Amino acid sequence: MRKYEDEYRHKGLRRELIDTLRKKGITNEKILSAINNTPRHFFMDLALDRIAYEDRAFPIGEGQTISQPYTVAYQTDLLRVEPFEKILEIGTGSAYQCCILAQLGAQVYTIERQKKLFDRNRNFEYLKKFPSIKFFYGDGYEGLPTYAPFDKILVTAAANSIPEKLIDQLKPGGIMVIPVDEGGEDVQRMLRITKQTDGTLEEEKFEMFSFVRMNKGKVNGN
Ligand code: SAH
Repeated sequence: MRKYEDEYRHKGLRRELIDTLRKKGITNEKILSAINNTPRHFFMDLALDRIAYEDRAFPIGEGQTISQPYTVAYQTDLLRVEPFEKILEIGTGSAYQCCILAQLGAQVYTIERQKKLFDRNRNFEYLKKFPSIKFFYGDGYEGLPTYAPFDKILVTAAANSIPEKLIDQLKPGGIMVIPVDEGGEDVQRMLRITKQTDGTLEEEKFEMFSFVRMNKGKVNGN
């Protein structure tokens, strides 16, 4: 089994990453401190250890990626996380993003459609630190009706439109942050959707990003 070590050198690289994120405009101290406390290299292949703290996405297998730290910070900030909120995440991937949400005090429900990635997280020791995260293997387009409604929903894969079923699973006053295709499938506009108490939706537009795709159905991976 892989032995995870968080060395002095990793901590130094994390501090440099925090400086980079500040320069790029991230100001939320709680988020910066969660990133500073999270050994990102644990979430990646050992071969990437030396570059794990570069501000970029990296492959995690199955054609998927761990999001860029800037993107993680940006989405988390838009979500306006408060302690004890119930948050649904679509696209567990490496589980890095959900650990950041958990450190902000949220109760996290996260769904992954790739069985191999889901199974890997079951054996990932570090995640035992976070009993407030619940992992599900399934299709994020369906959400988790049994556990709904949610205070917040975070989609970490590129959607071609806003999934109706996810809107239904959002509490009145709830917020969904989701990257939606704009002018093709290469880039997405970050949207923040607020469900008003009367059920109408308010939509705010933010920066452009490039995510791996949100696909329908599950992948068994055998
Ligand atoms: N939040 C992740 C980012 C992973 S990339 C992290 O911190 O590492 C996006 C992930 O979304 C991929 O693992 C992909 O398999 C998953 N995904 C794509 N479509 C999905 C869907 N419909 N339901 C659940 N997961 C999905």
